Amino acid sequence: MSFENLGLHESLLRAVKDSGYETATEVQALAIPAGLKGVDLMVSSRTGSGKTASFTLPALQKVIEARAAAAAAAGGENTRREKGRVQGPRVLVLCPTRELAMQVAKAAQTYGRHVQGLKLSTVLGGMPYALQLRQLSGPLDILIATPGRLMDHIQSGKAVLDNVEMLVLDEADRMLDMGFIDDIKFIADRIPATRQTVMFSATFAGHVGRLANDLLREPQRIDV
Ligand code: AMP
Repeated sequence: MSFENLGLHESLLRAVKDSGYETATEVQALAIPAGLKGVDLMVSSRTGSGKTASFTLPALQKVIEARAAAAAAAGGENTRREKGRVQGPRVLVLCPTRELAMQVAKAAQTYGRHVQGLKLSTVLGGMPYALQLRQLSGPLDILIATPGRLMDHIQSGKAVLDNVEMLVLDEADRMLDMGFIDDIKFIADRIPATRQTVMFSATFAGHVGRLANDLLREPQRIDV
């Protein structure tokens, strides 16, 4: 299916074109329109199926729309007052490993290249705290994190998740295999219940299914 018919913002379509993609993959054709509608999703798709774009593009669109809404509501006046206040990200992506998180961050930068002033940060285990703390204290659109390190920042009061509108769990089955279940629940509890939650996993059997039950509301299932 062509990307033009999926409901994506013009700046995102341009970035997709820059990447040389001609048609959306199967998971993209299903998950992008559903993601843009704002419903919760349980998605099973193979590695290499184009799943990263299927959640980063709706996530970027959320950022574009939220900014437009904030600018309209403020009429330009509040912007200065808001400065200096830590607002936390609008989108949080949790990944099992540092390597995967870095790939997701790279993809989000690529697809968000025409989104002016996009603020994207990573909070990853095994990386120095100083830069992460600096980035968490500034304005942020999208945060990509591994669960353990994000927990550290939440517990020290440095990561604020009050404004997260979209939570993505990438490779949820691997995160659970690595023992992150309590961290994920703790993190999700700190995000408003009105959020959209999108969960990717090779399987939704057993404990992954139970986690999906806990975190998702009337999810749409996509299996490709
Ligand atoms: P992923 O499954 O998200 O790791 O993506 C696998 C690879 O497919 C990455 O190198 C992407 O750049 C590429 N890719 C993603 N979407 C498309 C598309 N619609 N057309 C061609 N290549 C794509």
